[in-house]
Amino acid sequence: MNIALIAHDTKKELMVQFCIAYCSVLAQHSLTATGTTGKLVSEATGLPIQKCLSGTHGGDQQIAARIACNEIDLLLFFRDPISAKPSEPNEMNLLRLCDVHNIPVATNIATAEVLIHGLERGDLDWRNIVNPHPGV
Ligand code: PGA
Repeated sequence: MNIALIAHDTKKELMVQFCIAYCSVLAQHSLTATGTTGKLVSEATGLPIQKCLSGTHGGDQQIAARIACNEIDLLLFFRDPISAKPSEPNEMNLLRLCDVHNIPVATNIATAEVLIHGLERGDLDWRNIVNPHPGV
């Protein structure tokens, strides 16, 4: 499956720790991320990650475009609801597109854990029918 990762600056370390913890699960899937998030996670885990532009340069919109094409099967977007900078990705468009296509999405680590366990258990296998081209 295609998993997209985005983390606001104050949540990047949390994303790195999450990806270290679930490295063996994530390694079985195709990962894409906004630039800085992808760089930090790949450096910490060694996982291959397709890196989009940084969030400030439109990387979130590149991911949004893939979501709009129904090419992303799971979005993990660790957002900062308190002190996100105006230049950081706005979640509304991403979340709206996930709702349009029924794409599982987590905006915090608690939900991300549930989704990763579900992914491991095969709960999201129906996405292979909707998006039968992993890695596209
Ligand atoms: P980044 O994008 O991973 O490139 O930093 C997300 C953000 O701007 O918060």
